[in-house]
Order: sequence, then C-alpha cells, then structure tokens
Amino acid sequence: MASDRRDYNRKYYQEHKEHILSTNKKYRQEHKEQDKRWRATYTKKHYDEIRQIHWKRKLKVVEMLGGKCRRCGEMDIRVLQVNHINGGGRRDPLGKTDLYLEIVQGRRPIDDLELLCANCNIIYEYEVGHRRVYLPNWCPN
Ligand SMILES: [Zn+2]
Repeated sequence: MASDRRDYNRKYYQEHKEHILSTNKKYRQEHKEQDKRWRATYTKKHYDEIRQIHWKRKLKVVEMLGGKCRRCGEMDIRVLQVNHINGGGRRDPLGKTDLYLEIVQGRRPIDDLELLCANCNIIYEYEVGHRRVYLPNWCPN
C-alpha cells in the first residue's frame, strides 16, 4: 500500500533525520558547481513547465483567498497579489513560489493573508508607511 510506504518513509526519516540532513549537506557542498550547472540547464530546458507549476499554484492560492481584490474587487489574476495583513511580507522566510506551495499543501495558514490587486497593494503600503509620497502638501483626495 502506498500509504504504508509513506508512513514507513516518514518514520525512517524521523529516526535518521540528522544523518540524512548531514549527508545531503555534505553532498551539496562537494557538488556545488555541478549542481549549479545542472540547475541552470534544467531551469532553461523546463522553463515553461516551471512557470506553469508556479501559475497553477498561484491560481489555487487566489481561489483559496476569495478570488478577488479585497478592496476593489479586481479579479484579474495577472495583477492579484498575496498581502500579509499584519505586514511582515518582507520578513517571510519563504520565497513567493515556496509560499504558494506551503499554502496549497496546507502547511501555511492563510488567516493572516489577503488578496489585493497591485494598485491596492501599493496604496496599502503607503497607508502603513512602507512607502511615502515626498510632496509637502500632497493629499490623496
Ligand atoms: Zn484592488
């Protein structure tokens, strides 16, 4: 059974975690250049597939977060972005692709995330003080 196998693998990993991690690390250090070359070739060769995986994940995340900009209702996936409600997006240790993966696979809770379109996201950044308009008497209205 596939799930028995998975349980076994998980258990094996937990029991041999340190050994596995240190072996992997040693291998990566010893094959750094080779790994870099392989990655570059692979990324070039499979560019479309990699982008497609990214977009499929994004589509799923967009659906999970309500499918539209929380402020203005924009639904165009090309401009929709994930916003960290309490800030901290820059501090999120996960890159964009990994963040989507973590969300899609249910490992990252989404209650502190919201969908904003690019415009609303930038306006939000001004409102919370991450960006500033350098004009002395400028007012948004
Ligand atoms: Zn918007």
